[in-house]
Amino acid sequence: MTDSLLHGRFLELADTLPFLRLGDSPTPVRELDIGTRVPVWCKDESGYGSGGWGGNKIRKLEWLLPEAQRRGARTILTVGGTGTNWGLATALYAREHGIETALALVDQPEDDHVREQLQRLKSSGATLHFTHSKLRTVLCAPWLVVRHMRGRTLPYLLPAGGSSPIGTLGYVEGALELAAQVRTSMLPEPTYLVTAVGSGGTAAGLTLGLRLAGLRTRVLGVVVNDTLPLDAEHIIGLAKRTEGVLRTRGAQFAPLGLRPEDVTIVRDWIGPGYGHETPAAVAAQKLGTTAGLELETVYTAKALAALIDLDARGELGDGPVVFLDTYGPRHR
Ligand SMILES: *Cc1c(COP(=O)(O)O)cnc(C)c1O
Repeated sequence: MTDSLLHGRFLELADTLPFLRLGDSPTPVRELDIGTRVPVWCKDESGYGSGGWGGNKIRKLEWLLPEAQRRGARTILTVGGTGTNWGLATALYAREHGIETALALVDQPEDDHVREQLQRLKSSGATLHFTHSKLRTVLCAPWLVVRHMRGRTLPYLLPAGGSSPIGTLGYVEGALELAAQVRTSMLPEPTYLVTAVGSGGTAAGLTLGLRLAGLRTRVLGVVVNDTLPLDAEHIIGLAKRTEGVLRTRGAQFAPLGLRPEDVTIVRDWIGPGYGHETPAAVAAQKLGTTAGLELETVYTAKALAALIDLDARGELGDGPVVFLDTYGPRHR
């Protein structure tokens, strides 16, 4: 139950933070041949998890599901787009642990990928509420909470992408894992760790975890979502709230003093908006395929497109750079 780097070697957290291992760690790292100037490595999160869907949301659920159980919640109520990987992962893994999922779904541009995902959501056992827009979701929220009460027990409300401070612990753990891989020479210490930023938890957790681990690696977050505030201030704000959770629960470490300057956030690869395909993303998706990566154009292909463009402009230093493959299209 507690074989986690955060619980174990790194921080003396004992059993104060419940944790539930859902995937096989460490996830693999390998060098990618995609014709860049700097060496590029991939940390491959796509196969993480065992519940029929993988990717970066599973590490958040490792902390969120036992927290839901600790609170005695019977249902998780959360939000996402109609192609939400977060909602699907929550539905599949929560059900395995006796927790129901209710999703408020906001419209996003429809393509084959999103239509397929919606089919998976429909057969996931989750209760779906099509609220269409962010405004309508906010207006419906009180009704949704009451609708999903079980007796007097409130549903466990989670933000988009599972990016609460507890969910963010998932990528603190992910960064500690990467640091352990650097220490055992499975890859060189990277200058940058590139990830898509959809709700911020992954980038925030990585930033906190890399600092705790003492690596010099900088998180380079590629924003793909224009409907949430995701600038460096917000990412660091979330990282600091997560640091606060660790301290409140008994972890002891010197003050980290994280500042917005400690993370690099770029926004030039969103294109017209969240979920909209861009030519650069389509090209990066094709390039990824040649290197054995299965990417999609909502998140991962936009992040790889940014990496490729920044490399071409010589803005990634000498590397090596790590690309975090966060997409987990697993079928049982
Ligand atoms: C959710 C998601 C992300 C973004 O992670 P956040 O923690 O929400 O910023 C990246 N890639 C994929 C495939 C995702 O589903």
